[in-house]
Amino acid sequence: MILYMRLCLFSRVCLNGPLALCVVLSHTVGVRRSWMTAVAEDLDMLSERAGAFSELGRKTVAEWVSVVRDNPRRFRAALRKAKGERAVNSVQAWARTRRMAEVDAEYKCPSCVYTCSTRQQLATHAFTVHGVCRKMRAFTDTDHCPVCMQWFGTRTRVIVHLEEKSPRCRRVVLERFRQLPEDTVAVLDERGAEEARTLGRIGRRRHHADTRATRLAGPLMKEAFEAGLDHKSLLSTRLPKISASG
Ligand SMILES: [Zn+2]
Ligand SMILES: [Zn+2]
Repeated sequence: MILYMRLCLFSRVCLNGPLALCVVLSHTVGVRRSWMTAVAEDLDMLSERAGAFSELGRKTVAEWVSVVRDNPRRFRAALRKAKGERAVNSVQAWARTRRMAEVDAEYKCPSCVYTCSTRQQLATHAFTVHGVCRKMRAFTDTDHCPVCMQWFGTRTRVIVHLEEKSPRCRRVVLERFRQLPEDTVAVLDERGAEEARTLGRIGRRRHHADTRATRLAGPLMKEAFEAGLDHKSLLSTRLPKISASG
């Protein structure tokens, strides 16, 4: 259904929007998690699975735009027909949320043939088998992310943010920051482990915190701007939720 609505909107944009908008949008295909990437994936899936679309064949988004503009009725009719088709409605073909897509995603160990289905399993494997620790530990000595200025309350949650949630902040840290001295990291790790034990005793995970992440006031670093962060993008980026159960 999401998929159907998305393609209806796509056809409306193609028809009623100015051509320049279509051109701009078609340039965002391939950008991770962009709307047009989702549209392109939907169209690929339909031309693969839907009988109604098979005669139209596989096309690039730019070609799809001209198909819709040349003969909108035909496109809409094919779309409506495809909506009822069985192959399109199988579980694999659904428009999936990121979380659902992660459910049966496969995580591969870069050092051996081990595969698993969650990131946590992979991290455990990397630690127990290869002795790999979280790299961001060696860069983090604060309760807030030094790049985007989000305050997390604990260093552990900052590490989770850098390791898992924000590739953007991680890149800036790796490129611009110096590693902390080893003994400093050891002291911080020991303190973190102690906090984790305290939390464990009351049945909490180690990245538990009672407070929500908030954005600290203060100027962003020059490095953050150079990496493409600006105040506007910060305002539009939703804060990652780190909950007690997560
Ligand atoms: Zn491995
Ligand atoms: Zn950050």
